[in-house]
Amino acid sequence: MKSKLFVLNAAAVIGLSSILAAPAAYAESINSLENKKSQIQDQRSGLESKVNTANDKIKQLQDQQDKTRAEMKRIDLAIGETNTKIREKNEQITTTKAEIEKLKAEIVVLKERIAKRNDILKQRALTYQENGGKTNYLEVIFGASSFGDLIDRVSAVSEIMQADEALVNQHEADKKQLEETQQQVENKLASLESMKKDLESMKAKLSTQKVEKDKLMAQLEKEEKDTHTYKMSLEEEDEMLAAQQATISKAIALEKQRQKELEEARKKAAQQAALNNASSGGSGSSSSSNSGGSSSGGNVSNERPAISGGAFTRPAVGTLTSGFGGRWGAFHYGVDIANSADVPILAAADGIVARSYYSSSYGNAVFITHSINGQIYTTVYAHMESRMVSTGATVSKGQQIGIMGNTGESKGQHLHFELHKGSWTPSKSGAINPVGIVPL
Ligand SMILES: [Zn+2]
Repeated sequence: MKSKLFVLNAAAVIGLSSILAAPAAYAESINSLENKKSQIQDQRSGLESKVNTANDKIKQLQDQQDKTRAEMKRIDLAIGETNTKIREKNEQITTTKAEIEKLKAEIVVLKERIAKRNDILKQRALTYQENGGKTNYLEVIFGASSFGDLIDRVSAVSEIMQADEALVNQHEADKKQLEETQQQVENKLASLESMKKDLESMKAKLSTQKVEKDKLMAQLEKEEKDTHTYKMSLEEEDEMLAAQQATISKAIALEKQRQKELEEARKKAAQQAALNNASSGGSGSSSSSNSGGSSSGGNVSNERPAISGGAFTRPAVGTLTSGFGGRWGAFHYGVDIANSADVPILAAADGIVARSYYSSSYGNAVFITHSINGQIYTTVYAHMESRMVSTGATVSKGQQIGIMGNTGESKGQHLHFELHKGSWTPSKSGAINPVGIVPL
């Protein structure tokens, strides 16, 4: 009877039920972990090619920007040249206008002179008529005292008449030339005005081109910025995947180690049972170990850490201020637990810290990878005041990992807690509502 109890206790110590169920289940869970690991490797290769594509795109966008900048420089220079030409044309127009004014003034003077001369001639003609026209000249001529005097008088009269006519002709010719010059200068002005108009329309075209290039440049710059941001998010995703890959490798090693220890314990128990059988001669004890497991279950907690309330425990004490789901037009991928004073944050389950870092959005954040019944879960603890574990650390359920805070994109002290089935991804595609799974 005493030896039978001993066998039961030994079996209880190493966890009888787990030994019996263990080898197959662990092999299965290791398999699934290996699968998960190769899945992540595939994801990372995919990411690497996406990063390469993003780099190519950035290079292409930068080339386009260089070309656009060169075009903008060309346009700027052309605008400068056009402005210089317009300025020159303006000066020429001013000069030409002055020239026209001067010519107009000269024409006015000439016209006055011609009018005056015509008046004089008219007056003289009138005098001749009043005095019987040529009679007057005849008087002059017949008043000659001698033939020589007559000749002189005749030629004098003729000269006077010719001189008057020549003068008027000269004035008319001068006036005609001035008018022609004015016409030429006015033509020149018109051509200058038309050239200036062409230059101004060219300038307007160049300015439009400049505005278009400015727009294109802004668009290229924005695209480049977006691609950089996208690349950064890819790199962050890759960092996260790399961290989780390392975590899963560690989890596999842990599982293997545990399996080995369980196997050894099972062998020891079997040897002990055989030894006890041999010394007591009883043959029923080995079969009784199967049925005896449940009767001595109370002793298990002395050897292994007590697991109370299932696989998960409450990560922080506080009020659930925001649940999982749609919120303010966006999706809230976790739950918020708010509290004041120094509130410890606990690991929700056994696991390995995939990442412990400061994120601009999450603030002080810890990501823990859990392997629960062959299923990988990831828990996220964000906005903490401080972190007490580092990347790669093994944590046990209920172990303090930090203090509740208000870091990153947070308004008021609270814990933002996320539960993901599988690995965390930037799209948070694996996020599930922790309510009902994790006691909150
Ligand atoms: Zn939140």
